[in-house]
Amino acid sequence: MDFKPDARTEELVASLQDFQKTHVEPNEGVFHEQLAAQDDKWAWDTVPVLGEIRAEARKRGLWNLFLPGEGGAGLTNLQYAPLAEITGRSHLGPAALNCAAPDTGNMEVLHDFGNDAQQKEWLEPLLEGQIRSAFAMTEPGVASSDATNIETSIALDGDEYVINGRKWWITGAMNPNAKIFIVMGKTDPTAERHKQQSMILVPRDTPGLEIKRGMEVFGYDDHDHGGHAELIFTDVRVPVGNLIGTEGMGFAIAQARLGPGRIHHCMRSIGLAERAIELMCARVEDRVAFGKPLSEQGVIRDWIAESRVRIEQLRLLVLKTAWLMDTVGNKGAHTEIQAIKIATPATVQWILDKAIQAHGAGGLSQDFPLARAYAGIRTLRFADGPDEVHKNALAKAELRKQAARRA
Ligand SMILES: Cc1cc2nc3c(=O)[nH]c(=O)nc-3n(C[C@H](O)[C@H](O)[C@H](O)COP(=O)(O)OP(=O)(O)OC[C@H]3O[C@@H](n4cnc5c(N)ncnc54)[C@H](O)[C@@H]3O)c2cc1C
Repeated sequence: MDFKPDARTEELVASLQDFQKTHVEPNEGVFHEQLAAQDDKWAWDTVPVLGEIRAEARKRGLWNLFLPGEGGAGLTNLQYAPLAEITGRSHLGPAALNCAAPDTGNMEVLHDFGNDAQQKEWLEPLLEGQIRSAFAMTEPGVASSDATNIETSIALDGDEYVINGRKWWITGAMNPNAKIFIVMGKTDPTAERHKQQSMILVPRDTPGLEIKRGMEVFGYDDHDHGGHAELIFTDVRVPVGNLIGTEGMGFAIAQARLGPGRIHHCMRSIGLAERAIELMCARVEDRVAFGKPLSEQGVIRDWIAESRVRIEQLRLLVLKTAWLMDTVGNKGAHTEIQAIKIATPATVQWILDKAIQAHGAGGLSQDFPLARAYAGIRTLRFADGPDEVHKNALAKAELRKQAARRA
Protein backbone atom coordinates (compact mmCIF):
# COMPACT_ATOMS: atom_id res chain seq x y z
CA MET A 1 0.00 0.00 0.00
CA ASP A 2 1.46 3.30 -1.07
CA PHE A 3 -0.62 6.37 -0.32
CA LYS A 4 1.93 8.90 -1.51
CA PRO A 5 0.14 11.26 -3.90
CA ASP A 6 1.40 11.00 -7.49
CA ALA A 7 2.51 14.04 -9.50
CA ARG A 8 -0.96 14.71 -10.98
CA THR A 9 -2.59 14.56 -7.55
CA GLU A 10 0.03 16.85 -6.05
CA GLU A 11 -0.55 19.35 -8.83
CA LEU A 12 -4.34 19.23 -8.38
CA VAL A 13 -4.01 19.48 -4.58
CA ALA A 14 -1.90 22.64 -4.90
CA SER A 15 -4.30 24.16 -7.41
CA LEU A 16 -7.36 23.27 -5.34
CA GLN A 17 -5.83 24.55 -2.09
CA ASP A 18 -5.19 27.88 -3.75
CA PHE A 19 -8.70 27.99 -5.25
CA GLN A 20 -10.26 27.08 -1.92
CA LYS A 21 -8.31 29.77 -0.08
CA THR A 22 -8.82 32.54 -2.63
CA HIS A 23 -12.30 31.84 -4.00
CA VAL A 24 -14.31 29.44 -1.86
CA GLU A 25 -13.79 30.10 1.85
CA PRO A 26 -13.67 33.92 1.59
CA ASN A 27 -17.01 33.85 -0.27
CA GLU A 28 -19.01 31.75 2.21
CA GLY A 29 -20.51 34.86 3.83
CA VAL A 30 -21.20 36.53 0.47
CA PHE A 31 -22.99 33.39 -0.74
CA HIS A 32 -25.30 33.36 2.27
CA GLU A 33 -26.00 37.11 1.99
CA GLN A 34 -26.86 36.82 -1.71
CA LEU A 35 -29.01 33.74 -1.13
CA ALA A 36 -30.92 35.55 1.63
CA ALA A 37 -31.57 38.46 -0.76
CA GLN A 38 -33.00 36.17 -3.47
CA ASP A 39 -36.73 35.71 -3.99
CA ASP A 40 -36.46 31.92 -4.08
CA LYS A 41 -34.45 30.76 -1.09
CA TRP A 42 -34.23 27.17 -2.44
CA ALA A 43 -32.52 28.17 -5.68
CA TRP A 44 -29.04 28.07 -4.20
CA ASP A 45 -27.35 27.40 -7.51
CA THR A 46 -28.44 30.70 -9.04
CA VAL A 47 -26.57 32.74 -6.43
CA PRO A 48 -24.27 35.06 -8.47
CA VAL A 49 -21.10 34.52 -6.45
CA LEU A 50 -21.44 30.74 -6.82
CA GLY A 51 -21.70 31.16 -10.59
CA GLU A 52 -18.47 33.18 -10.52
CA ILE A 53 -16.70 30.57 -8.40
CA ARG A 54 -17.88 27.75 -10.64
CA ALA A 55 -16.67 29.57 -13.77
CA GLU A 56 -13.27 30.01 -12.14
CA ALA A 57 -13.15 26.31 -11.14
CA ARG A 58 -13.83 25.28 -14.73
CA LYS A 59 -11.15 27.64 -16.01
CA ARG A 60 -8.67 26.01 -13.65
CA GLY A 61 -9.63 22.48 -14.71
CA LEU A 62 -11.19 21.77 -11.31
CA TRP A 63 -14.48 20.38 -12.61
CA ASN A 64 -16.22 17.00 -12.24
CA LEU A 65 -13.17 15.65 -10.45
CA PHE A 66 -15.29 12.93 -8.81
CA LEU A 67 -16.10 11.09 -12.04
CA PRO A 68 -13.55 8.42 -12.94
CA GLY A 69 -14.81 7.66 -16.46
CA GLU A 70 -15.44 9.60 -19.65
CA GLY A 71 -16.79 13.10 -19.05
CA GLY A 72 -14.99 13.36 -15.72
CA ALA A 73 -11.40 13.94 -14.66
CA GLY A 74 -10.54 10.22 -14.83
CA LEU A 75 -9.08 10.14 -11.33
CA THR A 76 -8.82 7.03 -9.17
CA ASN A 77 -10.37 7.02 -5.70
CA LEU A 78 -6.90 7.37 -4.19
CA GLN A 79 -6.20 10.42 -6.35
CA TYR A 80 -9.58 11.95 -5.58
CA ALA A 81 -9.39 11.43 -1.78
CA PRO A 82 -7.16 14.39 -0.88
CA LEU A 83 -9.09 16.61 -3.30
CA ALA A 84 -12.47 15.74 -1.82
CA GLU A 85 -10.97 16.38 1.59
CA ILE A 86 -10.08 19.94 0.60
CA THR A 87 -13.58 20.59 -0.80
CA GLY A 88 -15.14 19.29 2.41
CA ARG A 89 -13.65 22.17 4.41
CA SER A 90 -16.42 24.41 3.14
CA HIS A 91 -20.05 23.87 2.41
CA LEU A 92 -19.47 25.66 -0.90
CA GLY A 93 -16.48 23.54 -1.93
CA PRO A 94 -18.19 20.51 -3.51
CA ALA A 95 -20.80 22.64 -5.33
CA ALA A 96 -18.08 24.93 -6.67
CA LEU A 97 -16.50 21.97 -8.49
CA ASN A 98 -19.75 20.28 -9.58
CA CYS A 99 -18.83 17.54 -7.12
CA ALA A 100 -21.76 17.82 -4.68
CA ALA A 101 -24.10 15.06 -3.55
CA PRO A 102 -26.65 13.94 -4.59
CA ASP A 103 -25.74 15.00 -8.13
CA THR A 104 -22.47 13.07 -8.07
CA GLY A 105 -24.18 9.75 -7.29
CA ASN A 106 -26.91 10.47 -9.82
CA MET A 107 -24.37 11.29 -12.52
CA GLU A 108 -22.60 8.02 -11.73
CA VAL A 109 -25.87 6.09 -12.09
CA LEU A 110 -26.61 7.74 -15.43
CA HIS A 111 -23.03 7.26 -16.54
CA ASP A 112 -22.89 3.57 -15.61
CA PHE A 113 -26.48 2.44 -16.25
CA GLY A 114 -28.21 5.10 -18.38
CA ASN A 115 -28.78 4.56 -22.10
CA ASP A 116 -27.62 7.01 -24.78
CA ALA A 117 -30.87 8.98 -24.81
CA GLN A 118 -30.95 9.28 -20.98
CA GLN A 119 -27.33 10.37 -20.93
CA LYS A 120 -27.91 12.98 -23.60
CA GLU A 121 -31.00 14.41 -21.93
CA TRP A 122 -29.90 14.35 -18.28
CA LEU A 123 -26.25 13.41 -17.79
CA GLU A 124 -24.86 16.02 -20.15
CA PRO A 125 -26.57 19.03 -18.53
CA LEU A 126 -25.65 17.65 -15.09
CA LEU A 127 -22.00 17.36 -16.07
CA GLU A 128 -22.20 20.90 -17.44
CA GLY A 129 -23.64 22.05 -14.09
CA GLN A 130 -26.73 23.47 -15.84
CA ILE A 131 -29.29 21.49 -13.85
CA ARG A 132 -29.45 19.61 -10.56
CA SER A 133 -31.01 16.29 -9.56
CA ALA A 134 -32.35 14.26 -6.64
CA PHE A 135 -32.40 10.62 -5.62
CA ALA A 136 -35.70 9.41 -4.17
CA MET A 137 -35.60 6.17 -2.25
CA THR A 138 -36.55 6.74 1.43
CA GLU A 139 -40.24 6.58 2.40
CA PRO A 140 -42.00 7.78 5.55
CA GLY A 141 -44.18 4.67 5.70
CA VAL A 142 -41.47 1.98 5.93
CA ALA A 143 -38.10 1.40 7.58
CA SER A 144 -36.07 2.49 4.61
CA SER A 145 -32.68 1.40 5.92
CA ASP A 146 -33.86 -1.90 4.46
CA ALA A 147 -34.26 -0.86 0.83
CA THR A 148 -36.30 -3.97 0.04
CA ASN A 149 -39.12 -2.42 2.13
CA ILE A 150 -39.66 0.39 -0.38
CA GLU A 151 -43.33 0.41 -1.38
CA THR A 152 -43.67 2.99 -4.13
CA SER A 153 -45.20 1.22 -7.09
CA ILE A 154 -43.96 1.53 -10.66
CA ALA A 155 -46.59 -0.21 -12.79
CA LEU A 156 -46.37 -0.81 -16.53
CA ASP A 157 -49.37 0.49 -18.46
CA GLY A 158 -48.94 0.29 -22.25
CA ASP A 159 -45.93 2.33 -23.20
CA GLU A 160 -45.84 4.17 -19.87
CA TYR A 161 -44.99 3.47 -16.25
CA VAL A 162 -47.39 4.77 -13.60
CA ILE A 163 -45.82 5.73 -10.27
CA ASN A 164 -47.64 5.98 -6.94
CA GLY A 165 -46.01 6.50 -3.55
CA ARG A 166 -44.57 8.86 -0.99
CA LYS A 167 -40.94 9.77 -0.34
CA TRP A 168 -39.20 11.98 2.18
CA TRP A 169 -35.73 13.33 2.97
CA ILE A 170 -35.07 13.73 -0.74
CA THR A 171 -32.03 15.98 -0.73
CA GLY A 172 -31.89 18.80 -3.24
CA ALA A 173 -35.48 18.35 -4.38
CA MET A 174 -36.72 21.71 -3.06
CA ASN A 175 -34.43 23.47 -5.55
CA PRO A 176 -36.51 24.38 -8.65
CA ASN A 177 -33.44 23.66 -10.76
CA ALA A 178 -33.45 19.99 -9.64
CA LYS A 179 -34.97 19.02 -12.95
CA ILE A 180 -34.69 15.25 -12.71
CA PHE A 181 -35.40 12.74 -9.96
CA ILE A 182 -34.13 9.17 -9.93
CA VAL A 183 -36.93 7.28 -8.20
CA MET A 184 -36.76 3.80 -6.72
CA GLY A 185 -39.90 1.71 -6.51
CA LYS A 186 -41.25 -1.75 -7.11
CA THR A 187 -42.06 -3.02 -10.59
CA ASP A 188 -42.73 -6.60 -9.42
CA PRO A 189 -43.62 -7.14 -5.74
CA THR A 190 -43.87 -10.90 -6.40
CA ALA A 191 -40.29 -11.31 -7.66
CA GLU A 192 -37.34 -12.50 -5.56
CA ARG A 193 -36.67 -9.99 -2.72
CA HIS A 194 -33.79 -8.11 -4.36
CA LYS A 195 -35.29 -8.18 -7.87
CA GLN A 196 -38.55 -6.40 -7.11
CA GLN A 197 -37.13 -2.89 -7.39
CA SER A 198 -36.42 -0.66 -10.36
CA MET A 199 -35.11 2.87 -10.90
CA ILE A 200 -36.92 5.32 -13.08
CA LEU A 201 -36.34 8.89 -14.23
CA VAL A 202 -39.08 11.34 -13.33
CA PRO A 203 -38.75 14.91 -14.61
CA ARG A 204 -39.68 17.49 -11.98
CA ASP A 205 -42.59 18.96 -13.92
CA THR A 206 -44.39 15.63 -14.50
CA PRO A 207 -48.09 15.91 -13.59
CA GLY A 208 -48.98 14.11 -10.36
CA LEU A 209 -45.62 14.79 -8.69
CA GLU A 210 -46.15 17.06 -5.69
CA ILE A 211 -43.26 18.67 -3.83
CA LYS A 212 -45.08 18.68 -0.51
CA ARG A 213 -42.67 20.32 1.96
CA GLY A 214 -39.08 20.64 3.08
CA MET A 215 -37.82 18.62 6.07
CA GLU A 216 -35.71 20.24 8.79
CA VAL A 217 -32.56 18.96 10.49
CA PHE A 218 -32.39 20.32 14.06
CA GLY A 219 -34.27 23.36 12.73
CA TYR A 220 -32.01 23.92 9.69
CA ASP A 221 -33.93 23.67 6.43
CA ASP A 222 -30.67 23.29 4.44
CA HIS A 223 -32.01 25.62 1.75
CA ASP A 224 -28.40 26.45 0.92
CA HIS A 225 -28.11 23.08 -0.79
CA GLY A 226 -31.65 22.46 -1.96
CA GLY A 227 -33.29 21.18 1.24
CA HIS A 228 -34.73 17.71 1.79
CA ALA A 229 -38.21 17.30 0.33
CA GLU A 230 -41.22 15.19 0.99
CA LEU A 231 -42.65 14.09 -2.35
CA ILE A 232 -46.01 12.62 -3.27
CA PHE A 233 -46.45 10.65 -6.48
CA THR A 234 -50.07 10.26 -7.60
CA ASP A 235 -50.54 8.44 -10.90
CA VAL A 236 -47.33 9.97 -12.24
CA ARG A 237 -46.86 8.77 -15.83
CA VAL A 238 -43.53 8.58 -17.63
CA PRO A 239 -42.57 6.83 -20.89
CA VAL A 240 -41.11 3.29 -20.63
CA GLY A 241 -37.85 4.73 -21.94
CA ASN A 242 -37.36 6.42 -18.56
CA LEU A 243 -36.55 3.13 -16.84
CA ILE A 244 -32.85 2.92 -15.93
CA GLY A 245 -31.44 -0.43 -17.01
CA THR A 246 -34.08 -3.15 -16.90
CA GLU A 247 -36.88 -4.04 -14.49
CA GLY A 248 -35.51 -5.63 -11.31
CA MET A 249 -32.15 -3.83 -11.42
CA GLY A 250 -33.10 -1.16 -8.89
CA PHE A 251 -31.56 -2.72 -5.81
CA ALA A 252 -28.28 -3.48 -7.58
CA ILE A 253 -28.09 0.07 -8.97
CA ALA A 254 -28.73 1.50 -5.47
CA GLN A 255 -25.88 -0.59 -4.07
CA ALA A 256 -23.54 0.46 -6.88
CA ARG A 257 -24.43 4.11 -6.26
CA LEU A 258 -23.68 3.95 -2.56
CA GLY A 259 -20.05 2.67 -2.64
CA PRO A 260 -18.46 5.81 -4.14
CA GLY A 261 -21.06 8.02 -2.42
CA ARG A 262 -20.04 6.78 1.01
CA ILE A 263 -16.32 7.26 0.49
CA HIS A 264 -16.86 10.75 -0.94
CA HIS A 265 -18.85 11.72 2.17
CA CYS A 266 -16.04 10.38 4.36
CA MET A 267 -13.31 12.19 2.46
CA ARG A 268 -15.17 15.49 2.67
CA SER A 269 -15.90 14.97 6.36
CA ILE A 270 -12.18 14.66 7.09
CA GLY A 271 -11.70 18.10 5.51
CA LEU A 272 -14.42 19.43 7.77
CA ALA A 273 -12.69 17.96 10.82
CA GLU A 274 -9.41 19.59 9.78
CA ARG A 275 -11.18 22.94 9.63
CA ALA A 276 -12.71 22.34 13.06
CA ILE A 277 -9.25 21.71 14.53
CA GLU A 278 -7.95 24.89 12.91
CA LEU A 279 -10.82 26.92 14.35
CA MET A 280 -10.48 25.30 17.77
CA CYS A 281 -6.72 26.03 17.96
CA ALA A 282 -7.14 29.64 16.83
CA ARG A 283 -9.91 30.28 19.35
CA VAL A 284 -8.14 28.83 22.39
CA GLU A 285 -4.91 30.73 21.71
CA ASP A 286 -6.89 33.98 21.73
CA ARG A 287 -8.96 33.67 24.87
CA VAL A 288 -7.77 33.85 28.45
CA ALA A 289 -9.67 32.35 31.39
CA PHE A 290 -8.57 32.20 35.01
CA GLY A 291 -5.24 33.80 34.23
CA LYS A 292 -4.01 31.74 31.29
CA PRO A 293 -4.89 31.13 27.65
CA LEU A 294 -7.41 28.35 27.15
CA SER A 295 -4.77 26.61 25.04
CA GLU A 296 -2.80 25.99 28.24
CA GLN A 297 -5.65 24.15 29.93
CA GLY A 298 -4.93 20.41 30.07
CA VAL A 299 -8.42 19.40 29.08
CA ILE A 300 -8.32 21.54 25.94
CA ARG A 301 -4.94 20.14 24.98
CA ASP A 302 -6.40 16.68 25.45
CA TRP A 303 -9.18 17.56 22.96
CA ILE A 304 -6.67 18.92 20.46
CA ALA A 305 -4.35 15.92 20.76
CA GLU A 306 -7.23 13.42 20.59
CA SER A 307 -8.68 15.21 17.58
CA ARG A 308 -5.37 15.04 15.75
CA VAL A 309 -4.86 11.34 16.54
CA ARG A 310 -8.41 10.41 15.55
CA ILE A 311 -8.26 12.29 12.28
CA GLU A 312 -4.95 10.70 11.30
CA GLN A 313 -6.35 7.22 12.02
CA LEU A 314 -9.44 8.01 10.03
CA ARG A 315 -7.57 9.35 7.04
CA LEU A 316 -5.42 6.23 6.83
CA LEU A 317 -8.50 4.02 6.90
CA VAL A 318 -10.19 6.11 4.21
CA LEU A 319 -7.06 6.03 2.02
CA LYS A 320 -6.78 2.27 2.48
CA THR A 321 -10.42 1.95 1.41
CA ALA A 322 -9.85 4.16 -1.64
CA TRP A 323 -6.81 2.08 -2.57
CA LEU A 324 -8.80 -1.15 -2.21
CA MET A 325 -11.66 0.23 -4.33
CA ASP A 326 -9.11 1.02 -7.03
CA THR A 327 -7.31 -2.31 -6.83
CA VAL A 328 -9.95 -4.94 -6.01
CA GLY A 329 -13.16 -3.04 -6.81
CA ASN A 330 -16.03 -1.77 -4.69
CA LYS A 331 -17.21 -5.26 -3.85
CA GLY A 332 -13.77 -6.30 -2.58
CA ALA A 333 -13.62 -3.13 -0.48
CA HIS A 334 -17.10 -3.64 0.96
CA THR A 335 -16.02 -4.22 4.58
CA GLU A 336 -13.70 -1.22 4.54
CA ILE A 337 -16.41 0.99 2.99
CA GLN A 338 -18.65 -0.01 5.88
CA ALA A 339 -15.86 0.60 8.38
CA ILE A 340 -15.26 4.16 7.19
CA LYS A 341 -18.99 4.87 7.08
CA ILE A 342 -19.21 3.77 10.73
CA ALA A 343 -16.05 5.53 11.89
CA THR A 344 -16.10 8.84 10.03
CA PRO A 345 -19.34 10.58 11.00
CA ALA A 346 -18.99 9.54 14.66
CA THR A 347 -15.35 10.66 14.86
CA VAL A 348 -15.93 13.96 13.08
CA GLN A 349 -19.00 14.57 15.24
CA TRP A 350 -16.79 14.08 18.32
CA ILE A 351 -14.21 16.55 17.00
CA LEU A 352 -16.87 19.14 16.12
CA ASP A 353 -18.36 18.75 19.58
CA LYS A 354 -14.99 19.56 21.17
CA ALA A 355 -14.42 22.48 18.81
CA ILE A 356 -17.85 23.87 19.75
CA GLN A 357 -17.14 23.42 23.46
CA ALA A 358 -13.78 25.17 23.13
CA HIS A 359 -15.52 28.15 21.48
CA GLY A 360 -17.88 28.68 24.38
CA ALA A 361 -21.47 29.58 23.54
CA GLY A 362 -20.28 31.24 20.32
CA GLY A 363 -19.62 27.77 18.98
CA LEU A 364 -23.35 27.07 18.95
CA SER A 365 -24.16 30.22 17.04
CA GLN A 366 -24.39 31.36 13.46
CA ASP A 367 -21.13 33.31 13.86
CA PHE A 368 -19.05 30.15 13.39
CA PRO A 369 -19.61 27.30 10.94
CA LEU A 370 -19.42 24.67 13.69
CA ALA A 371 -23.04 24.28 14.78
CA ARG A 372 -24.28 23.93 11.23
CA ALA A 373 -21.47 21.47 10.50
CA TYR A 374 -22.40 19.48 13.61
CA ALA A 375 -26.00 19.19 12.43
CA GLY A 376 -24.78 18.12 9.00
CA ILE A 377 -22.39 15.45 10.24
CA ARG A 378 -25.06 14.05 12.57
CA THR A 379 -27.25 13.36 9.55
CA LEU A 380 -24.50 11.26 8.00
CA ARG A 381 -25.13 8.69 10.70
CA PHE A 382 -28.41 8.04 8.84
CA ALA A 383 -27.84 9.09 5.24
CA ASP A 384 -26.52 6.28 3.03
CA GLY A 385 -27.50 3.81 5.76
CA PRO A 386 -27.60 4.15 9.57
CA ASP A 387 -24.55 3.18 11.66
CA GLU A 388 -26.29 0.11 13.01
CA VAL A 389 -26.96 -1.38 9.58
CA HIS A 390 -23.29 -1.10 8.66
CA LYS A 391 -22.18 -2.48 12.02
CA ASN A 392 -24.53 -5.40 11.68
CA ALA A 393 -23.23 -6.28 8.21
CA LEU A 394 -19.60 -5.75 9.18
CA ALA A 395 -19.98 -7.97 12.24
CA LYS A 396 -21.64 -10.65 10.13
CA ALA A 397 -18.70 -10.64 7.71
CA GLU A 398 -16.22 -10.77 10.59
CA LEU A 399 -18.07 -13.68 12.23
CA ARG A 400 -18.02 -15.53 8.90
CA LYS A 401 -14.31 -14.89 8.46
CA GLN A 402 -13.52 -16.04 11.98
CA ALA A 403 -15.67 -19.17 11.59
CA ALA A 404 -13.81 -20.02 8.38
CA ARG A 405 -10.49 -19.53 10.18
CA ARG A 406 -11.54 -21.95 12.93
CA ALA A 407 -12.82 -24.61 10.53
C1 LIG B 1 -30.13 14.91 5.90
C2 LIG B 1 -30.60 13.65 5.26
C3 LIG B 1 -30.56 13.53 3.87
C4 LIG B 1 -31.08 12.39 3.25
N1 LIG B 1 -31.09 12.34 1.88
C5 LIG B 1 -31.73 11.31 1.27
C6 LIG B 1 -31.89 11.32 -0.16
O1 LIG B 1 -31.44 12.24 -0.87
N2 LIG B 1 -32.59 10.30 -0.72
C7 LIG B 1 -33.10 9.27 0.02
O2 LIG B 1 -33.72 8.38 -0.57
N3 LIG B 1 -32.95 9.25 1.38
C8 LIG B 1 -32.28 10.24 2.03
N4 LIG B 1 -32.15 10.23 3.39
C9 LIG B 1 -32.76 9.16 4.17
C10 LIG B 1 -31.77 8.16 4.74
O3 LIG B 1 -31.10 7.45 3.74
C11 LIG B 1 -32.59 7.26 5.66
O4 LIG B 1 -33.00 8.05 6.78
C12 LIG B 1 -31.83 6.04 6.13
O5 LIG B 1 -31.64 5.13 5.08
C13 LIG B 1 -32.58 5.31 7.28
O6 LIG B 1 -33.88 5.01 6.93
P1 LIG B 1 -35.06 5.40 7.95
O7 LIG B 1 -34.93 6.84 8.26
O8 LIG B 1 -36.33 4.93 7.34
O9 LIG B 1 -34.73 4.61 9.27
P2 LIG B 1 -35.32 3.19 9.72
O10 LIG B 1 -35.11 2.21 8.62
O11 LIG B 1 -36.70 3.39 10.22
O12 LIG B 1 -34.35 2.80 10.90
C14 LIG B 1 -34.47 3.38 12.21
C15 LIG B 1 -33.33 2.94 13.06
O13 LIG B 1 -33.40 1.54 13.26
C16 LIG B 1 -32.11 1.04 13.51
N5 LIG B 1 -31.82 -0.08 12.59
C17 LIG B 1 -32.23 -0.24 11.32
N6 LIG B 1 -31.73 -1.38 10.81
C18 LIG B 1 -31.00 -1.97 11.77
C19 LIG B 1 -30.23 -3.16 11.85
N7 LIG B 1 -30.08 -3.98 10.79
N8 LIG B 1 -29.61 -3.43 13.04
C20 LIG B 1 -29.74 -2.60 14.10
N9 LIG B 1 -30.44 -1.46 14.07
C21 LIG B 1 -31.07 -1.14 12.94
C22 LIG B 1 -31.13 2.18 13.26
O14 LIG B 1 -30.73 2.75 14.49
C23 LIG B 1 -31.96 3.16 12.47
O15 LIG B 1 -31.50 4.50 12.64
C24 LIG B 1 -31.59 11.33 4.04
C25 LIG B 1 -31.59 11.44 5.45
C26 LIG B 1 -31.12 12.58 6.06
C27 LIG B 1 -31.17 12.68 7.54
